[in-house]
Amino acid sequence: MLQTRVIPPAEGAYQYPLLIKRLLMSGSRYEKTREIIYRDQLRYTYPTLIERVARLANVLTAAGVKAGDTVAVMDWDSHRYLECMFAIPMIGAVIHTINVRLSPEQILYTMNHAEDRFVLVNSEFVGLYQALAVHLTTVEKTLLLTDAPEKTADLPNLVGEYETLLAAASPRYDFEDFDENSVATTFYTTGTTGNPKGVYFTHRQLVLHTMGVSTIMGSIDSVRLLGTNDVYMPITPMFHVHAWGLPYVATMLGLKQVYPGRYDPEYLVELWRREKVTFSHCVPTILQMVLNAKAAQGTDFGGWKIVIGGSALNRGLYEAAKAKGIQLTAAYGMSETGPLVSCAHLNDELMAGSEDERTTYRIKAGVPGPLVEAAIVDAEGNFLPADGESQGELVLRAPWLTEGYFNEPQKGAELWEGGWLHTGDVATLDSMGVIDIRDRIKDVIKTGGEWISSLDLEDLISRHAAVREVAVVGIADPQWGERPFALLVIREGHEIGARELKEHLKPFVELGHLSKWAIPSQIALVTEIPKTSVGKLDKKRIRVDISEWQASNSTFLSTL
Ligand code: AMP
Repeated sequence: MLQTRVIPPAEGAYQYPLLIKRLLMSGSRYEKTREIIYRDQLRYTYPTLIERVARLANVLTAAGVKAGDTVAVMDWDSHRYLECMFAIPMIGAVIHTINVRLSPEQILYTMNHAEDRFVLVNSEFVGLYQALAVHLTTVEKTLLLTDAPEKTADLPNLVGEYETLLAAASPRYDFEDFDENSVATTFYTTGTTGNPKGVYFTHRQLVLHTMGVSTIMGSIDSVRLLGTNDVYMPITPMFHVHAWGLPYVATMLGLKQVYPGRYDPEYLVELWRREKVTFSHCVPTILQMVLNAKAAQGTDFGGWKIVIGGSALNRGLYEAAKAKGIQLTAAYGMSETGPLVSCAHLNDELMAGSEDERTTYRIKAGVPGPLVEAAIVDAEGNFLPADGESQGELVLRAPWLTEGYFNEPQKGAELWEGGWLHTGDVATLDSMGVIDIRDRIKDVIKTGGEWISSLDLEDLISRHAAVREVAVVGIADPQWGERPFALLVIREGHEIGARELKEHLKPFVELGHLSKWAIPSQIALVTEIPKTSVGKLDKKRIRVDISEWQASNSTFLSTL
């Protein structure tokens, strides 16, 4: 251990813990009149947000919530969710942001596993909650969240309705300091097998993540995404990694914030227009839904900056959004990482390059943000060179990564093997520090001894004019081990078959961008591609569907 100089603090020196409450205070200091907006239901300013957070803290405390308890929220994106993201951790409790899109069995599992004691339930989920209630082992009380005039519901041990309780509570609460390493948030991530796993983040981690995101997104000139004049609307649900932490950033910076409730593409476009939204973030499929909305046809979305993460951003979607005036920027992260790890960063060299090259770098996972360390390792854990060629598993260190899985020490130890967080993603790193995600390890297609990236193939296929959406998976093949199989959603008025797709891909093979084994020998034209609970391509489901179609010789399959 180095013998560094550590000076004990002067008597009375304030030991400043990094707590979420600090993030709340600055927004109103910058902008007193900026508004937080919930659909067409409610709008209020930052001083009111602070008051409402205090009121909620009083309501929860009076209901019996104590430091260390877990308080769960089942809601669509709302001002209430934002208030919960502050008030619950600020009284020392842990907010469990329930993924309401999981199956009822999975929701039940996560609630019992997280040991939820209090649950705030949107009236839309009352039926679901009633069905779960008898199996919940730790919940004591419920609170109703509703937009409807009816302010009650048949919920067990109901404390009352949110707005009614807030109105009656004191607007002042003396939020105490406590250990910055206290857990503030938790939520569950689903893998391809087994039960969902609980990740968790401390106050310190969330404060540092907030500072990290605002630096990455606010200070890099080549892709300046976020400034204090931006108008923020999430289109990543608040249950998906706290809407990627952006509500904390937006509040700290005092931005106008717009919460859209349940996502309806037509209504998202309407809100975008009405509130003059300039900054959002989402997974690619949600953006695709917005672009396909009736209200989006003929609309110029000029001035809308959208960060795309959670899945690879392919060039087809990038160009389609650009044609409508939307500036897309890719970012990379995962549930376990808070989530932000990296974001497109175009250095001087790339800015001086061609438009095509700039696009290539705007759609890659980007450069790790400040304080983030990234490396790639082989199967034995040896570090590989950052030469843009060597592929290995991406491993990470940063001060805001989950330090384990809740109550699953073995899985936590696997995640952190060798002192680095293992992402399960195959990537390259280049000399400029750019991370290029090649694929999830389990989605790489192994065919005839070659490894083919399903993401590469999706990107190249997305460039065909007929293709609106594409998913590629490896399907077992007796001769080759696996063969790539493409699922396509076609634009109206277009046609494509396996042969046309081959013609489209051939030039990429000739240019050396693609192995000839990567050309799918079979494709399926579908009207919709299955998605996960957070709107990503559901490759597990897709594989099952394909084997069923193959077994039944379905007519919409096109074979070379
Ligand atoms: P989740 O934990 O559900 O948010 O999923 C995280 C996973 O999404 C990562 O491990 C990646 O496989 C994928 N992902 C996130 N961002 C990107 C990106 N920019 N490019 C490619 N894959 C991404």
